[in-house]
Amino acid sequence: MHPDLEKLILLQAHDVEAKRLRDEMVALPKHVASLETKVKAVEGQRAVIIGLIAKEEALRRRQESDVKDHQAKSARVRKQMDMATTTVQVTAFEHEIAFAQAEINKLEDAEIESMERSEGLEAQKNLADEALADATATLERERVRATETIAQDKTLLAEIEDKRKAERAEIGESALSTYDRIAKSKGTAVAEALNQKCMACQMMLRPQRWNDLRDRNNEETMMACESCGRLLYYDPSRDSPQRKTVPVESIAASIIRSL
Ligand SMILES: [Zn+2]
Repeated sequence: MHPDLEKLILLQAHDVEAKRLRDEMVALPKHVASLETKVKAVEGQRAVIIGLIAKEEALRRRQESDVKDHQAKSARVRKQMDMATTTVQVTAFEHEIAFAQAEINKLEDAEIESMERSEGLEAQKNLADEALADATATLERERVRATETIAQDKTLLAEIEDKRKAERAEIGESALSTYDRIAKSKGTAVAEALNQKCMACQMMLRPQRWNDLRDRNNEETMMACESCGRLLYYDPSRDSPQRKTVPVESIAASIIRSL
């Protein structure tokens, strides 16, 4: 293997980890912001339900006051009826009383309907209370986790940046500029070749190139994948003829293990 290639493999591992840390530091505040939005949405839904409950209560207060008005009117008319002198007057008063009673019945029915709506709304409010408590707890937990993780990421990133600087200083200028150029366009610049395939783009290597790559004495050239252009390396310990076979656990053994 070309001496710079080994260093590039290590550099890439640190570049990938640095990118992961940077991505995480960007993603976590967005994640927290999306949870804040969710809490606000649940709060909004709960406020709408509370508003509807208040509306039903106001409606019932009006209905009760209207019932009292009709009852008072009815009582007044009854007194007038006691002093009535003609059947025409009595009939007119009776109509008034019947009308008032019909209104009272209508209002009382409407009041029962309102109470039923309120019951439904109270159930919805309980669900909204639970949803809000859940969303708030999740937000608080994730906010703490994000703060802690970002602080850890910053420390790790600083360490990795120091390592990267030291590693880059050890690599030849031409190898480094090739690495940077490919990494910039492809995301990663070095890829393992395994079973005659580039593991980054999955394309097969021609037999001659595969043989050249596996040639232990070849320390001169760095070989690039003909398909994706990444620098290829070969790890003999991972090649299939030498790969250890994974022992397959018998069904009986796995049952015993799970007891
Ligand atoms: Zn490739």
